[in-house]
Parts: sequence; C-alpha cells; structure tokens
Amino acid sequence: MLEQNSMEKIVSLAKRRGFIFQSSEIYGGLNSFYDYGPLGVELKNNIKKAWWQAMVYQHSNIVGLDSAILMHPKIWEASGHIANFTDPLVDCKKCKKRFRADHLLEAAGIKPDLGTMKNPPKELKECLECGGQLTEVRQFNLMFKTFMGPVEDAGSVVYLRPETAQGIYVNFQNVMESMRLKLPFGIAQIGKAFRNEITPGNFTFRTREFEQMEMQYFVHPSQADEVFEKFKEARLQWYIDLGIKKENLRFREHEKDELAHYAKRAVDVEYNTPFGWKELEGIHNRGDWDLSRHSEFSGQDLRCVDVGSGEKFFPYIIETSAGADRATLMFLLDAYQEIEGGRTTTTESTKEMETILSFSPKIAPVKIAVLPLSKKPELNEVSKKVLDSLQSDYFCLYDETQSIGRRYRRQDEIGTLYCVTIDFETLEDQAVTVRDRNTMQQERIAIDQLKDYFKLKLS
Ligand code: ATP
Repeated sequence: MLEQNSMEKIVSLAKRRGFIFQSSEIYGGLNSFYDYGPLGVELKNNIKKAWWQAMVYQHSNIVGLDSAILMHPKIWEASGHIANFTDPLVDCKKCKKRFRADHLLEAAGIKPDLGTMKNPPKELKECLECGGQLTEVRQFNLMFKTFMGPVEDAGSVVYLRPETAQGIYVNFQNVMESMRLKLPFGIAQIGKAFRNEITPGNFTFRTREFEQMEMQYFVHPSQADEVFEKFKEARLQWYIDLGIKKENLRFREHEKDELAHYAKRAVDVEYNTPFGWKELEGIHNRGDWDLSRHSEFSGQDLRCVDVGSGEKFFPYIIETSAGADRATLMFLLDAYQEIEGGRTTTTESTKEMETILSFSPKIAPVKIAVLPLSKKPELNEVSKKVLDSLQSDYFCLYDETQSIGRRYRRQDEIGTLYCVTIDFETLEDQAVTVRDRNTMQQERIAIDQLKDYFKLKLS
C-alpha cells in the first residue's frame, strides 16, 4: 500500500503537471469539484476509451447509449431514489461540523445498523473533533434538485441524475427494438452523475459531480448468477490488464443487511488506497426491481416473452458500475513511483529524487515527447517535421528547454512512454534517438522508419 503522504504528493503533482486542478480556484475554489487539465483529460479519456472498448466493442451483444442528465421526475420515484437515496447525517451543535453517522460507527468498529439501533453509542452523541453534542441522526437525500422553466414551484422540480443507470432502464425497449436485440444483451453508458455528498473528500475519490461508466446486462433470471460471476471476474481483470498491481485489488461481497434496496447481490472491486481499502466499482444483481418498477410507474409493459414457453417475465439486470474519476485517481496512485537518487548517474540527477508515473501504454496521456538537443534553427526545422509526422497519430509534447537529463525527468514524471531526441548527427544520418521510459534503453531509428516503429510499439 502507498503511504498516507503519497496522497499529498499526487495532489501536488496533479496540479503542477496539469492533471487535475481545484475547480474555480481563482475564486477560492468550490469544495469537492475538480477540473481536469491538459494531461488529466487525456488520461481520463484514455481510461474511458479502454472501458468502452472492453465493454462495448469486445461484446457483440452490448451497445452504447448517451441519455439525458435531467429526466422525468417520476423516474426517481420509481427507482426508489426519492424514498431511499439518503445518507444518515449528524451535526455538531458546537463546532458545526457535519458527519455521516454510518461512517462514525464504522470507524469505531460498530456495525452501522441505524434502523434497528435503539440506544445510540457515544460515537453518535459526542463530536469526535471537539467533544460537542451531536444532533439526532437525520436522513438526508443526496439528489441535487433544480427547476425546469421559469416558475420555481413543486411542479417544476427536476433532479440531476445521481447515477447513469436509470437512463438505460427507461430506454430498454427503445434500444432492444431499434437494434433488434434479444436477451441476453447489455447497454453501456458513460456520463456525469451528481450526488450532494455529506462528506466529500480524499481529492477526486468522493466528489459531488463525477463521471460513471456503467453497463447494464439484461438476462433471463435463470442466467443471472452465471452472468454475475463472469462480469465480476472480467471487471477485476480489466484493471489488471491496464496496469494496476494485482495485490492492490480485491473483491468485497456485501452482506445481506448492507445491500441497497434494489440489490439481490453486490460485490465491490476495492483498491488499496493510502486511506484504506475503498470501493472502485460495484457489480450488482439488481433482479427485476428496475424494469418492474418502471413498468408499474410508467404504465408500459417492459416484460419480455420467452419464445419457447410463451412465458412473460421481467429480465434480471446485472450491473457493472465504475467511477471514471475514481479509476483515474487509482491509476495515478498505482503508477506513482519515487526513486531515491534517481535512475541515472549524471551529476545533476543523482542528487535528486526521481518521480515516475509508470502508466501502461494504453492509458499514458503522452505517448511521445520530441526533444531537440539544442534550440538551433537547423535542429528546430527537422524536429518540427518529426513532431508533425507523429502527432497526427499520438498525443505528443515538444520540449526544447534545459538539459536533456532534466527533460527526460520531466517526461518520466508525467509517464511519457518514449522520448525522441534530435541531435546534430540527425542532420547527417537522418536518424533520431528513441528512449524507452521503463528501461531507459536508447535506440537509433531512421526518421523514415519512425512511424512504423511506433505503430509496432504502441499498437
Ligand atoms: P460509496 O459507497 O463509495 O459512496 P456507492 O456504493 O454509493 O459508493 P455506487 O452507487 O455503486 O457507489 O456507484 C458506482 C461507482 O460510482 C462507485 O464505485 C464509484 O466508483 C463511483 N462513485 C460513486 N459515488 C461517487 C462520488 N461521490 N465521487 C466519485 N465517484 C463516485
């Protein structure tokens, strides 16, 4: 596991090198909202692309969707979010700090069974920060409300979606019919979700605006258990294939009494963060809850017909629900490496700690950096040509300031896979030096072979 202070290092590197910024920073920031900088947006896009490829393109029976953020308010009644999407909240009467009651109990090793708890323990009476008296537990709905149209009354309330899944369920029939699909099939979606979290924190781990990558798989109830196992294994493997260390991942099965109102079974993929093992993704068997409720509330029959028996039934839904921001943070944490004294032996670098982000090639934000050895115009011209030829296929950076050793370090720190150095010999032999981030091996490659070289390396 990474040390506690590695979180501060990641936050600082993320800002300094253009991965993630505090939102509205020049106005003092808006708590728990973040903006992705030039490298962050590349990293997150690469993660989303890898997810789409694994979940949609690699399955002939899974298709994509992009549904609206604001939807009919009845959807949230049907889904149970208006009644159940709440967190238990307590406030300190003295210091005014706000806490999640279930988190206070968990931290004290007490099962957070608030529904049946008759006599609250001291953790729910005394503030752990100042010792002040805590209020009684209140249920707080996490959905953000807004109003549609010019009149702000009860009839115009709409909600920012707290999950992308409901947009999929209400389009179940549209997708099935328009794509002529038969069970089993899946619908995948990547999109923003909003939750008015009581205690956001740990950088982008828990925020009030975030992006989800969700896939909903519709199956005959008799196949649900088998499909659940298949996706559970596949989702863990996806993180490993993209470079996350196996020992930093594990499953956690939810106990019966902690299951959400819709779930028959739930398993989390957890990551070993500097602040403990935390949920990265949830795999849920939602049974027939969603389609039966939407049938009831909308008046549309969303059942399917079994061709053999003629039986009408609600398909079960197996859901894989991942957070794009949480995943981005975990990839950053997992790739972060510090090497005391550095990997190279040049005088300037031996003195300093070296930082490397060892992203896997698929998700590394910068694939290639083009580095002319000097700023002289004759090198500049050929370097720009090399850059032009590569940047139509890969996200590249160009850097011509400071020593080459420093520039390699700067690229290693953001996880750039290859550095291409153009020197005076290039003018003679029409070749460049390519340095590999991981091995630091250097190879001389002819400029006219460069595109094929990277095609092979990065395909
Ligand atoms: P948690 O227990 O951490 O609040 P959850 O069980 O409520 O998460 P789900 O509703 O299953 O989460 O959401 C699926 C995924 O969406 C989570 O695994 C996580 O990756 C992401 N996610 C949920 N809430 C947030 C949030 N506030 N900020 C960032 N990502 C989130």
